[in-house]
Amino acid sequence: MRLGAAYYPERFKPEQWESDYKKMQDAGITTIRISEFAWSRLEPREGEFHWEWLDKSIALAEQSGIQVIMCTPTAAPPIWLVEKYKEVLPVNDKGERAVFGKRQHRCYSSEKYWEYSERIVEELAKRYGNHPNVITWQLDNEFGGERQRCYCENCEKAFQKYLEEKYRDIDELNDRWGNFFWSEDYQNFQQIRVPLEINAQLWTKYNPSLELDFWRFSSRNIVNYSNFQAALIRKHTSVPITTNTDPFYYGDTVNIFELFKNLDIAAVDVYSESLYEIGFYSDINRSMKESGKFLMTEFGVNNCNQYEVMDQLNNSGCELLSFFAMNAFPWGQEQGTHGLLTLTGEPTKNYRVTKKWHEDNKAKEQLFTSKYKVGIYYDFESSWTYSIASWGGETSKWIYPIYVLHTVYKSVFEKQGHVKFIYQPDDIKDVELLIVPKHIIYNKQLEGALARFVENGGKLVATDDIFKKNEDNVFLTYMPGIYNDIFGWEGKSFIDLKEESTKFVISEKTSGKGKAWIVRSDAGLEGWKELFEQII
Ligand SMILES: [Zn+2]
Repeated sequence: MRLGAAYYPERFKPEQWESDYKKMQDAGITTIRISEFAWSRLEPREGEFHWEWLDKSIALAEQSGIQVIMCTPTAAPPIWLVEKYKEVLPVNDKGERAVFGKRQHRCYSSEKYWEYSERIVEELAKRYGNHPNVITWQLDNEFGGERQRCYCENCEKAFQKYLEEKYRDIDELNDRWGNFFWSEDYQNFQQIRVPLEINAQLWTKYNPSLELDFWRFSSRNIVNYSNFQAALIRKHTSVPITTNTDPFYYGDTVNIFELFKNLDIAAVDVYSESLYEIGFYSDINRSMKESGKFLMTEFGVNNCNQYEVMDQLNNSGCELLSFFAMNAFPWGQEQGTHGLLTLTGEPTKNYRVTKKWHEDNKAKEQLFTSKYKVGIYYDFESSWTYSIASWGGETSKWIYPIYVLHTVYKSVFEKQGHVKFIYQPDDIKDVELLIVPKHIIYNKQLEGALARFVENGGKLVATDDIFKKNEDNVFLTYMPGIYNDIFGWEGKSFIDLKEESTKFVISEKTSGKGKAWIVRSDAGLEGWKELFEQII
């Protein structure tokens, strides 16, 4: 496992660069992530590019044996851009437009944002695409983070277009969404509004079918923008392209499986001391690609168990562990964030831990093998459906990921270690036990794949809410065949937990060479642990 660090030469005097690079080398840090957020220093005025500082800092890094992950700076549009084109700034669900002064202040439907992104990304790629010391490209920063869904006029028009392409006929949309309910029938696609939370006097929610399509649209908007940047860079380089995600920290806002489809390697930012939580983020990301490898692009450096974490990551397919950050920052929104060096440039305890770990491990090989016993099926659309169904509170967006991480994953990880995450029916293979938690959205292809998995000898555990709604976020009015055929549920209605005993296992059945269980989704860790004692 290589070691790296986020480094921001634009924030320090050039005299400091060489000494910082030397300290990196001494600790075994041989990669830096660079130019993330540097748009205003790369293009301080429209069309005026300043490359000298970046050229020089990269050259100095090369002389010090440090390679570079080049980041596109588009998560921080400069003031001249947002002053000239207000439409670049996103609008929140109260209809209020953001003002300059934070980050991720961009609307993914703004043509001007795309146009100016195209220029800065392409100029950067032209200049450094073939640079021998640039080994990877990172797009933007934490897509779907602070900027999630945008409710501006351009997004509304794009959402209407998305719906028109999907449904073609407005009556098809009216029927599928059930718009006869409360007289919500639309006459044309241009009448459909984004779900703004304006007019607080009307204390109710929007149609959950509209909401789910808006979440799909918003995620796709981000994925399209990411693909657009990747295509621009690919014209000028053949090195791998990634983006650093921060999944679940902000809720499941973007479908990261879709996001990484068109990128070469998955990457994740993690701020945690919990070994199972770090295991979860590692497994979520490693499972994105056949290679079983991933990058940890950011890892907070104020942990008390860093050596242990480094061991765990080294054994879990992590190709690069990049610390956040090399230096502590005296200014800005991240002032007070720990670095491997203190504000005065002195090594911290975790700098010494990093150095020690590197010295202990530089001659060893990584131990990870991608053999799994257990898989967990992760479904972003089911996650969104749960967020939409909740009635408020910031934590409500976490319902699905919290359950999968702190209950299901934790109980498996503590019993037998790493897990393969599966994101599509065709990838159900190479595991003995498959857990399908809270997959509320029905998927015919998945139903068939799960049945075949059990018939062929797999063990399958699902929660009581499996396949209760269709893809339009409407409850089903029939029972999918898998309930009886595979899980042995003999009821004629979906499972109502209030009518069941408190036992964790609600039904079980042996089919073909395998076996399947339906379990309570409202039970805690103990239920899962007891079941795994018997079946893993
Ligand atoms: Zn917008």
